[in-house]
Amino acid sequence: MMKKRILTGDRPTGALHLGHLVGSLANRAALQDEYETFIIVADVQALTTNFERPERLSDDVRQVALDNLSAGLDPDKSVMFVQSMVPGIAELTVFFSMLVTVNRLRHNPTIKSEAGSYGYTDMTYGFLGYPVSQAADILFCRADLVPVGEDQLPHIEMTRFVAGRFNELYGPVFPEPEALVSRVPRLVGTDGSAKMSKSLGNCIHLSDEPAVVREKVMSAVTDPARIHKSDPGHPEICTIAAYHRAFNAQESQSVEESCRVGTIGCVACKKRMVEVLEALLSPMRERRAAFSGPGLIDEILVEGTKRACAEADETLGRVRRAMRIDYFGGRDA
Ligand code: ATP
Ligand code: MG
Repeated sequence: MMKKRILTGDRPTGALHLGHLVGSLANRAALQDEYETFIIVADVQALTTNFERPERLSDDVRQVALDNLSAGLDPDKSVMFVQSMVPGIAELTVFFSMLVTVNRLRHNPTIKSEAGSYGYTDMTYGFLGYPVSQAADILFCRADLVPVGEDQLPHIEMTRFVAGRFNELYGPVFPEPEALVSRVPRLVGTDGSAKMSKSLGNCIHLSDEPAVVREKVMSAVTDPARIHKSDPGHPEICTIAAYHRAFNAQESQSVEESCRVGTIGCVACKKRMVEVLEALLSPMRERRAAFSGPGLIDEILVEGTKRACAEADETLGRVRRAMRIDYFGGRDA
């Protein structure tokens, strides 16, 4: 029996954070034995919003790879690769772009909310179309499962649509992949805003030093109505309470009860969170150090990208045959 496949990944737009960890990274690491796992470093997708600063990608690509390894991704089990170095993905994007109307893209709720947060009054073709490119990211290796945060659900729906439409028109080549949303589909930012996000600067990074983690937790937004410890708190609107639910499931209920009756203050509650996060992040720092040797990350990415290219060639062969564009007996020019 062939193992089923996972494809997921991140945009190299900066250091990964706790939202990535609970939203997707933890599932990736946990499932890599059960599934053949492909992790994409989505540098082309990063360009859709950062095309004016391509020089930052080189560092960010390595940073994101290291973040994945620190979270438990094993390069001997999983394939980690760079999107722009797999030409088959770009080629597949072109074929898929015939199957998706501009209106369908315009109505994608994640595109709408991201365009709003970037302040786009008009959108580039590349930004509007990135869900099509993402369908190619997922389908180039014929993935079955995509562990992602909640914001990605419209894109997985788009991928299923593309796969279904392709199969219906040309014959069965692609599975219709399922999204796997974690127990914490969207982690709030330290500023209390709805999503911890690289672009919003409200993140606790997986690579933050202990003093930085402490500072960010201690200054995170809590329940504004609470001035004194004895004031009854409202954990349902508190950032730190959300972190207890995400990272300290065992104690979170009792922490919330103590907060509501005013027997635990925000400072003590935050201090406990600092301890919890240290216990989580400190082994990750050790893994990070182990993979930081000279050239190691580059070697892992080059090897992974070779594997991904071979897989893309296989898929593109099937695609051309299905579309009857395998002229000249499939010979290369
Ligand atoms: P950017 O702001 O540059 O888009 P991002 O923080 O949204 O960065 P991505 O690289 O776009 O990160 O997302 C990678 C994966 O992590 C996606 O599956 C996304 O849903 C998930 N993810 C990102 N932020 C969170 C969060 N706060 N909670 C849960 N999942 C998240
Ligand atoms: Mg994003």
